[in-house]
Amino acid sequence: MEARLKVDWIKCDGYGLCGDFVPDIIGLDEWRYPILPEGPLDGGRMHEIQRAMDCCPMRALTLVRADVAAARPGRLRRLLTGAR
Ligand code: SF4
Repeated sequence: MEARLKVDWIKCDGYGLCGDFVPDIIGLDEWRYPILPEGPLDGGRMHEIQRAMDCCPMRALTLVRADVAAARPGRLRRLLTGAR
């Protein structure tokens, strides 16, 4: 299963710790808010990504299935419910 990172912008306070852990994966803007990669994550780096998620004091980062994250609303409903 391919995964993508998602940030809850309500929770994120811009501490930037996530980007400090994996700067080549999670960029930081000038206010230290995360800039997440567009595509699926490198499966070989999941341990580092998990550490970055664990270090977030606000628990603002989550992993989502890449196919679900990219889906439009109608397709998302079908993916989640199995409906045709
Ligand atoms: S560590 Fe958490 S709170 Fe800090 S910038 Fe990253 S996602 Fe936001």
